[in-house]
Amino acid sequence: MLLFLHEQDKYPTPADIDKIICAKILDPNVNNAYYEAIKSFMLHGPCGLISRPTSPCMEEGHCIRHFSKKFYEVTTVDEDGYPSYRHRDNGRMVKLSGIHLNNRYVVPLNKLLLLKYCVHINVEWCNQSRSIKYLFKYVNKGSDRVTASFYTNSTSDNSSIKVDEVKMFYDC
Ligand SMILES: [Zn+2]
Repeated sequence: MLLFLHEQDKYPTPADIDKIICAKILDPNVNNAYYEAIKSFMLHGPCGLISRPTSPCMEEGHCIRHFSKKFYEVTTVDEDGYPSYRHRDNGRMVKLSGIHLNNRYVVPLNKLLLLKYCVHINVEWCNQSRSIKYLFKYVNKGSDRVTASFYTNSTSDNSSIKVDEVKMFYDC
């Protein structure tokens, strides 16, 4: 889903972002349904060199989704408008697959959307022109596919002249 905001909302303050996006584990005594939804749908991992180096998101010793995030006491927005969400070190943890995860593993979310749909919905603030590239990447991604090729080998053809037309086509 893509939302276009009013021009006055083009450059958000951290407070604007905090009103919409959250990245923390809630106190289950305050709102248990919200806590359970975050626990079920919005925690990344476990992954990491020590916790789970064989996780599918791990490549060359690093998480390709950049988890775990750094702890940030407050949300900040850099000069390019790129936000770093508030991931406070409040000591709260959730045990997932035998590993304790803290706020550094919470995927940015919107409370209303999460509680309404009860599925994984990553909500990010993006108002830069490069977000258009990200959007088009997904529009043009298409369905899963493979590239297959056919070729002859020395035992499949007894003729002395072998022409692999498919390979010639791929090789131009
Ligand atoms: Zn990961």
